[in-house]
Amino acid sequence: MKTKTRKPDKVNIVTLGCSKNTVDSENILTQLRGNQIDAHHEQAAANANIIIINTCGFIENAKQESIDTILKYAQAKTEGLVDKVYVTGCLSERYKDDLAREIPEVDVYFGTRDLPKLLKKFKADYKHELVGERLLTTPQHYAYLKIAEGCDRPCSFCAIPIMRGKHVSAPMEQLVLQAQNLAKHGTKELILIAQDLTYYGLDLYKKRNLSELMARLAEVEGIEWIRLQYAYPAGFPLDILEVMAQYPNICKYLDMPLQHGSTKILQLMRRGITREKTEILIDTIRQKMPELALRTTLIAGHPQETEQDFEEMYTFVEKMRFDRLGIFTYSHEDQTHSFTMEDDVPEEVKQARADEIMELQEGISAELNQTKIGKTFKVLFDRKEGGYFVGRTEYDSPEVDNEVLVSAENQYIALGSFARVHITEATEFDLYGHVV
Ligand code: SF4
Repeated sequence: MKTKTRKPDKVNIVTLGCSKNTVDSENILTQLRGNQIDAHHEQAAANANIIIINTCGFIENAKQESIDTILKYAQAKTEGLVDKVYVTGCLSERYKDDLAREIPEVDVYFGTRDLPKLLKKFKADYKHELVGERLLTTPQHYAYLKIAEGCDRPCSFCAIPIMRGKHVSAPMEQLVLQAQNLAKHGTKELILIAQDLTYYGLDLYKKRNLSELMARLAEVEGIEWIRLQYAYPAGFPLDILEVMAQYPNICKYLDMPLQHGSTKILQLMRRGITREKTEILIDTIRQKMPELALRTTLIAGHPQETEQDFEEMYTFVEKMRFDRLGIFTYSHEDQTHSFTMEDDVPEEVKQARADEIMELQEGISAELNQTKIGKTFKVLFDRKEGGYFVGRTEYDSPEVDNEVLVSAENQYIALGSFARVHITEATEFDLYGHVV
């Protein structure tokens, strides 16, 4: 009697949310491949029979996107198109029981720190020796390096500590080993990420140790750019600017979410800093490093934000002239401190305020970009699109900041390579030029 041979499992990992989730998905991919399991990342064409969804639970829109993705694959399972659906990540961590009740087609809901349990479903073991060897889902030439997990900050609007737990720094040796291995595989840009980058080391080394980590990583051969994302303003360790100045391969770039420009709202947000102190910090940073590009993120429409509070945020943005800026509308997140306040700013007012800030920023960015015409910058090329090679200067993070476009006519630039580009034209968020 002919026995039906079962095709080996094929896994497709789907990632939602932020760069920290990207790193988690890369760790899942690395561990599955390390156990000889045929795993892929976001390859619908893989015809995988097992789907792993790495969800985001940050704010309403992101939560809805995660739920829609789970429903899509639950439906695929009901139709027999896939055999198993596993869900992990922040939304799963936060709402495991509700999700299991409402979408029972999913085989297992895992938390944010359940990788070993997930692997068990594949009769696979967590291989510690693979920690330094991470497969990337980003282009090989840049990689996110998650230097810590979780957060100890009390920001009243934020659900991340509920989903990611307390701050845990990764051992420096492990991070340096990861950087060395990534560099061996062609990574040139390391983007340091955490919930709060500047908290690095306080748990493990009993002191803020980001500056030492930066110096160690800057010594890794092959790493040409090191970028800092998610710095926290209160208690900001100014010594990192000295290390930034010392090493040319540390980008003169800093992402520091500030969330608001009104002291009243900053206090309601429990950010531990006032508008005045924020301005002093930014002035100090700019005095110490005038060429630094400063990126920030703000929230419009937090409970009790009046027209006057919004005006304060508006004048703050006008005065500080950030190089890069993003803004969210406030999302009323259960289990957070802000959830105890009334969500009293109507959605359309939140959105109108966010749009007004972005319009202001567009003007500022256009003016700042005009000053780049006639200058030459080192550019890292990420992709080719619409007749252009598209890259970034050291002042731009992937996916969120400005880009440099070089015509592809009679020109070839290897993706993942650097070239010096002379800027001839500028728009609000893009620069145009030619290779010199
Ligand atoms: S620093 Fe504040 S906003 Fe950022 S993850 Fe921690 S609690 Fe959330």
